[in-house]
Amino acid sequence: MDYRIRATAAAGTLRAIATHTTLSARSAQEAHRAAPLAAAAMGRAMSAAALLAADFKSQGRLIVDIEGGGPLGRVSAECAGEFLRARVDHPEIQLDLRADGKLAVGQGVGQDGFFRVRREDGEGHFWESRTALVSGEIGEDLMRYYLESEQVTSAVAVGVLVGINGLVAASGGLVVQALPGSEEVVEGVAERFSELSHLSHRLAEGESAEDLLRSVLPQPVSLFEPQSLEFRCQCSRSYSQAILQSLPSEELNRLIEEGGAEVICNYCRTPYQFSKRELQEWMKN
Ligand SMILES: [Zn+2]
Repeated sequence: MDYRIRATAAAGTLRAIATHTTLSARSAQEAHRAAPLAAAAMGRAMSAAALLAADFKSQGRLIVDIEGGGPLGRVSAECAGEFLRARVDHPEIQLDLRADGKLAVGQGVGQDGFFRVRREDGEGHFWESRTALVSGEIGEDLMRYYLESEQVTSAVAVGVLVGINGLVAASGGLVVQALPGSEEVVEGVAERFSELSHLSHRLAEGESAEDLLRSVLPQPVSLFEPQSLEFRCQCSRSYSQAILQSLPSEELNRLIEEGGAEVICNYCRTPYQFSKRELQEWMKN
């Protein structure tokens, strides 16, 4: 099962969150029939959303949008309570691996744009904040976001391992944050982070999110209750209907002439069909 777990260390001056998102990353890859590059970008983005949402108390949702002008287009991930979902404009894109053998996520995403976070409380209020992209690799971009937008010094790693069969083998993320006054401790932690460049390999080898936390934080580490996460889209036929009903009447008339409409969810690719007759009924009202 996918999950997120929080921890504290160094007498409470360090706080950390780790997340295991392998099943969600696999589900996203399947839903979008994504090539390895897009699967990795969506997995990293879902880990970022899961980490950011750990601080989000309300019943609302948190959306991460990453748009850097690269061939993948916009990458989005959403965490609403325990539900994760993700989408990408061009899931089919393939690029050569980087010199170090990793997927070229930064090149796919691009660097010319923003890392944007939107929080919605479910009661009509929302907050949005964005920072310029660093590399499009998502981990570094999230690190800058924490620093510039939330004024928290953080060390961040997000990673997705794609197997030789082209399918997601592991996905996860980790953030360690220094509360004011503990910046020196976090520098020691940052050194241990270099080992986490292979975070996804370690998860694939069976390490847990708890193991990752214990390996980067100074002992003793206090762990909180894990919170389960799951890939699930919350789209519905009535939501698709509302989108169609908001179209201008010329557009609805065109769909009626075409014999009906189909709305495909951007996040899970579920198709919702609307008959000509249904569309005609709406026109009457
Ligand atoms: Zn959906």
